[in-house]
Amino acid sequence: MARESHCIKVPKKEGEKTRRNLAEEGLLDNSLKPHSDEIFLYFPVNEEIPGTVILSFEEREESLLLPRHELIGGIAIMQDDDKGEAERLLASRPVIHTVLYSEGPVTGEYRTKDYSVLAGRETTATDYTEYGQRFVIDLSAAYFSARLANERQRIERMMEPGERLLDMFAGVGPFAITLSGNASVVYANDINPAAVSLLMENIRINKKRNIVPVLADARHLGGILTESSFDRIIMNLPMRSPEFLQTAFRLCKPGGMVHFYTLQSETGEMAMDIRKYTGGKISERIVRSYSPSQHHAVYDIEFI
Ligand code: SAM
Repeated sequence: MARESHCIKVPKKEGEKTRRNLAEEGLLDNSLKPHSDEIFLYFPVNEEIPGTVILSFEEREESLLLPRHELIGGIAIMQDDDKGEAERLLASRPVIHTVLYSEGPVTGEYRTKDYSVLAGRETTATDYTEYGQRFVIDLSAAYFSARLANERQRIERMMEPGERLLDMFAGVGPFAITLSGNASVVYANDINPAAVSLLMENIRINKKRNIVPVLADARHLGGILTESSFDRIIMNLPMRSPEFLQTAFRLCKPGGMVHFYTLQSETGEMAMDIRKYTGGKISERIVRSYSPSQHHAVYDIEFI
C-alpha cells in the first residue's frame, strides 16, 4: 500500500547523516519506506517542517514496525505506555539502554517532563553526541531536546570569530557549547541548579575554556552582567521569552543580534513587541510545528 507523506529530499551522499538526525529528532516516519532516484534520497517525516515536499511512499509491513519514539543518546522515549512494545524497542538496537514513557508535556519553571521507565535501566540520564560535542543529560532533572540541533548549526554559521555571547536560558549547554568555538567568551545562564550542574560537567568533558556558567533568574542578568556588552544573545524559553526582551536588549551591543525563540499562532505575531526595542532588521523563520494551532518560531533581531 502507498501513502502520501511530507518528506525531506537530500543528495545521496548526505543520506546516512540525515537519516540519523531525523531519527534522533523523532521526525523519521518508520512506517514508510524511504525511496531514491539517481541523485536524491527521500525520507518520509511525520510532521511538516521547513523545506518538506509531499510524495507517495510504500508502507512497511506491520510486523517490522517499531513503536514511534524519539531517540536521545541511549534513551528512547515512547508516546504510548506499552511495556511489551518497549521491550521490543529495547531489543532492536544495542545503543538503547532505557525506554521511557513521557507522562505529559514540559511543565514548570525548569521546563522538565515526568517520565516512567518502561524497559531497561532505571534511569533518565544518558550521554548524547551532537556534531562531535558530548552532552551528559538527565531528562527528569533538566530540559534537553535534540530538535534544535540544526538551529545551533545555523547560528554557528552566522557568527564572526571572537564574539561575546550570552545564552540566557542555557539548560545543560547545547547552544553555549556548540557556539563557544567561534566566541571569545560565552556566559551560559539558567535558573535550574541541576541544569547548571550538568552544564558544568559538559563544559569539562568538552574541554571548553571560555564558558562562564551562571545560576540566576534571567530577570537579574541586567544587574549581574555588563550592559551593552554582548554581540549575540540566545533566548530559548519559547513559552515565556517575551518577558525577557527588555533585559536582552539592555545587554546587547548596538549592532549585535538577539535570537528570540517563541511559540506563536501566526507569523509576525511578536513583531510589535520587538519593535519597542529596536529599529533594526528582523527576520523570522518557522522552526517546527508545535501543535495544530501553534508553531515554534525564531526571530533573528538586529539591535540598533
Ligand atoms: N537552551 C537550552 C536547550 O536548548 O536545551 C534549554 C532551553 S529550555 C526550553 C529553557 C530553560 O530556561 C530551562 O533550562 C529552564 O530551567 C530555564 N529557565 C526558565 N526560567 C528561567 C529564568 N527566569 N531565568 C533563567 N533560566 C530560566
